[in-house]
Amino acid sequence: MQPISRRSFLKLAAATTTAVALPQALKMDFQAFAEEAKHAEVTRVPSLCNGCSSYCGVWAYVKNGRLWKIEGNDIHMKSRGHICARGHGIAQNVYNPGRVTQPMKRVDNKNNFQPITWEEAFQEVGAKMKAIVEEHGGDKMVWACHGGKESYAQQFMDIIGSSTYITHYATCFSAKTNIWQNMVGGMFNPDFDQAKTMLFVGRNYAGGIIPAAMKRITEAKAKGGKIIVVDPRFCELATIADEWIPIRPGTDLAFFLGIAHTLITENLYNQSFVEQYVYGFDEFWMHNKDFSADQAATICGIAADKIREVARELAGSAPHAFLDPGYHGLAAHYQNSNETMMLNIIINALLGNFWKAGGLFPAASTTFGHPEATYYGPVAAKGIRADGAGEVGEYPLVEPSRGIPQRIPDMIEKGRARMVFFYSYNPLRSAPEPEYQKKIKNADLVVSIPYDWNETSLYTAHYILPENHYLERTEHPKVINGNIYWPATQVATRFKALESTTSSLDLLDIMKGLTKAYGIENLYGYTVEEELEVALGPIGVSVDELREKGCIELMPSVLPKEEGLTFGTFTGKIEFSIGAWRKEGYLGVPTWVPPLVEPAEVNQFRLIHGKQPWHSHIMTTNNPYLMAITEEKKGTYMWMNSSRAGELGIQEGDWVTVSSDITSKQVQVHITEGLHPECVWLPSTYGTFSEKLELGYGQGVNYNDFIPARIDKKTGHVMGQECIVTITKGGK
Ligand code: SF4
Repeated sequence: MQPISRRSFLKLAAATTTAVALPQALKMDFQAFAEEAKHAEVTRVPSLCNGCSSYCGVWAYVKNGRLWKIEGNDIHMKSRGHICARGHGIAQNVYNPGRVTQPMKRVDNKNNFQPITWEEAFQEVGAKMKAIVEEHGGDKMVWACHGGKESYAQQFMDIIGSSTYITHYATCFSAKTNIWQNMVGGMFNPDFDQAKTMLFVGRNYAGGIIPAAMKRITEAKAKGGKIIVVDPRFCELATIADEWIPIRPGTDLAFFLGIAHTLITENLYNQSFVEQYVYGFDEFWMHNKDFSADQAATICGIAADKIREVARELAGSAPHAFLDPGYHGLAAHYQNSNETMMLNIIINALLGNFWKAGGLFPAASTTFGHPEATYYGPVAAKGIRADGAGEVGEYPLVEPSRGIPQRIPDMIEKGRARMVFFYSYNPLRSAPEPEYQKKIKNADLVVSIPYDWNETSLYTAHYILPENHYLERTEHPKVINGNIYWPATQVATRFKALESTTSSLDLLDIMKGLTKAYGIENLYGYTVEEELEVALGPIGVSVDELREKGCIELMPSVLPKEEGLTFGTFTGKIEFSIGAWRKEGYLGVPTWVPPLVEPAEVNQFRLIHGKQPWHSHIMTTNNPYLMAITEEKKGTYMWMNSSRAGELGIQEGDWVTVSSDITSKQVQVHITEGLHPECVWLPSTYGTFSEKLELGYGQGVNYNDFIPARIDKKTGHVMGQECIVTITKGGK
């Protein structure tokens, strides 16, 4: 690894400035510019941070056409006036030399590209799209994106008959949304403010940060709320917890079964809630009545008395207590993640905390208006999904709205996908097994719409169509909700704060150009400003009001309820037994399922991973400010338990070779007692292998290098921690 010294950081920062300023510098009088800048007015423009899927509300302060600083929006429920280090860093990426500055066309198999004009890009891509659809059908188009529902792409896919809209969620949390939908009818989120006991398992709000969540958790603790963190690692959230309970990785399900068993056998659960609002309790109990806290202890490594103590603590505070619904750690990493998520819901239901202060609530939401359709031409019948999500005989239980991103190379190989669009999504780095993902380049047409030179663009794309940085664009509005409880619907959006510094475009303009060249004249007959106005119409909010406040809060609509609860399931109750599973021949209720793989040798470990507070995604590792924090904290190091390290003769900072079934890589080691002895832990954002992202390139390793691309049969997730690695001392 090339360490980033302070000196080199300063050099890089200077180089960054030079690289951006150079074209202007040829024409500029710097003294006049500096003098003018001194007196220039500072304007404040609202936006939504693009550093992670929290979309924190921010104010961008702009002086003399340059970004001056960025701050959290006080109203926005995810930021509440604060943003994290990543948010500050990612805003500065508007001036990052790793940006793609204009449309690019691949010229060879060695990752060389030539710049082309937008008109050339539209004509060439549009003609290729047309030829593929005419020869193979529109259902061979795949749109893969980081997340959310991108309506512009969907409109085009509806016309040509493609169903395959894929998000990255299988790598993060698809078991969560799938299971909550099946058992409860939708997601519920924790109310920190009034909780008396908060149990966090597989959720680190201080690593995968939501700034307002950490603020509210801390305030709840100050009011007497108890925080219990169960995690193989002494994670950042554990540092403020009353208790950190290290658990054997992959055994959260056993711990949960032990908790549920204690609640039921000690009669600590809310019987009246279960009688009124639960379907399938008896079936669950029939299959799990012998799985006691003692049995759980033999699997998860937490003493039976401690499991019972946690169950009693929760019950003592219920209904003002919750088991957090979790994230990556619970919802995408193990063969048993689906059953683990089911137990998560079951424990909360046993506490009777749904719709209760300090318990769980659904997200507040609203409905936006839509511009009138301007396309009246033919519409093709929808084909089957290329990834098989929701399709009979393939992955019938996987949510089609999420999809199976790790299957894209297979879909291409089988001829089920011929043209793939990647919008703000980089599966070569964020999905397992990058060498396998590189086969994406074999598609007839690969188009990437990124803002930087990410790996997927460099290694697989035939065309790269750069999108504006988030501070350079106005967007249609978003409902702000999810992951944490807030009683009122909030609406916010991004307003353009800066002129584009490159020849990049907004997605709407890219789609207009592509579809026109394809032969559809007027699919998007509106500007984004017009779309924004129409969207806000039904909720009585004007564009000017939204621009002035940055985030609008509507009347509180999700408040505690004592009775008359209904859930969006077939029975209207919380279903402990999933009907869709039974239909497919599975048991409807969860029972103990072991992890898929286990370490066996003295130098074998389970590879686990997670976020650092200052990095979220691979794009943050090409940022000088955030990488300076990495340097200071030795952030690329792999964590290893001190006793296991001692047995292998490994010391702090040593290089080791990490080998899985599919690759070997070298990394430096951090020795700690804050990690379960059976695993090693990698921060999730390093290992950039795009040479064009110079700051991140070659820094650290990425867990995805070691994990084989697998698909969970029921929810499609990647089983991202079912990976055993062998560690040997020595390396670079
Ligand atoms: S948590 Fe940080 S990176 Fe994520 S949206 Fe908020 S400020 Fe940005």
